[in-house]
Amino acid sequence: MNYLELKVEQLKKDGVYRMLPVNETPCEAIITLNGKKVINLSSNNYLGLASHPKVKQKAIEAINYYGVGAGAVRTIVGNMAIHEELDDVIARFKREEAVLVFQSGYMCNIGVIQAVTEKGDLIISDELNHASIIDGVRLSRADKAVYKHSDMEDLERILLEKRSQYNQVLIITDGVFSMDGDIAKLPDIVKLAKKYNALTYVDDAHGSGVLGESGRGTVDHFSLHGQVDFIIGTLSKAVGVVGGYVAGSKAMKEYLLHRARPLLFSTSMMPGACAAIIESIKLLESSNEYTTKLWENSNHLKNALVKQGFDIGHSETPITPVIIGDEAKTMAFSKALLDNGVYVSGIIFPTVPKGLGRIRMMPSALHDKNTLDEAVKIIKVVWDQISNHE
Ligand SMILES: *Cc1c(COP(=O)(O)O)cnc(C)c1O
Repeated sequence: MNYLELKVEQLKKDGVYRMLPVNETPCEAIITLNGKKVINLSSNNYLGLASHPKVKQKAIEAINYYGVGAGAVRTIVGNMAIHEELDDVIARFKREEAVLVFQSGYMCNIGVIQAVTEKGDLIISDELNHASIIDGVRLSRADKAVYKHSDMEDLERILLEKRSQYNQVLIITDGVFSMDGDIAKLPDIVKLAKKYNALTYVDDAHGSGVLGESGRGTVDHFSLHGQVDFIIGTLSKAVGVVGGYVAGSKAMKEYLLHRARPLLFSTSMMPGACAAIIESIKLLESSNEYTTKLWENSNHLKNALVKQGFDIGHSETPITPVIIGDEAKTMAFSKALLDNGVYVSGIIFPTVPKGLGRIRMMPSALHDKNTLDEAVKIIKVVWDQISNHE
């Protein structure tokens, strides 16, 4: 057997082998997953923009005009007028000086962190930061330190101990932490950064389109415009399309245009995606109906779960975990829910600490209250069955 076949065999023995679920329908509140109609509480399509008629129409128009591919990287001939427009539309929406779009949030993190740090610098990262930040940090030649999750004393301890030994220090945090739904203590981080002359970097993938005025993000939520050096967002979640961006100063953008490797060595976003994103952002700018509906649905879901006695952790955002604890029980629960028509992902170690397994629900603006009530009813019935079988 070749070595990868052996490794796959081992995955099966370890009980972690899995098949990808197949969705045959648009990413909406009800989907057909593996041939079965289920309530979808697992997507990051927070605002329902992924299949919004106006957003789809703009993508179609752009494809008809530009074609499907940009044909090159942005530094050669792949920088179409629509890419320039996209950067500017997002900068205006984010109320920051400049924006540079990447092909995904992942690409943005691995490109920006590496470009803006070098040997002699220190990166200080929250222990629960997203995998794409961890990968970006790995690619950097700077030294690394990790602080305990949202623990400002621990962050200050590292700054106090190490600041003087380095040229630049970059503090990196998620804006909203995706497993618990808690918000970074950004005002405190900014204060510490000022005190110790450090730079700040917030990855707001789960905050963009969710927090702040009409979804302008965590920085807007805390009124910290102009005070965070690098603001990363994704266009793949609430904005409903695909892509990532960094917002910050004009000089930051100019530098990254010369040094961010995903920009230099990977073809730019498809023009249809650019047009779809521009329309999504315009919808957010013109109305807060999408974010209002998202928050109403989230509060409705959370209240219904608490009423049934579930432990929903300490989320401050639509991300809604139900803490189960035991790993095997968590996965059995998630599987039984799918069999009964509710798709929520089970999340266990190593994604979250041992003994803190949970199912994670992602309500959206597309759900209606009846569907959410129906989901909670099924969750309660299935949970009672599982607990009674112990
Ligand atoms: C989802 C996510 C990303 C990746 O974004 P993509 O656009 O899907 O590549 C990056 N950072 C965080 C914190 C995320 O949650």
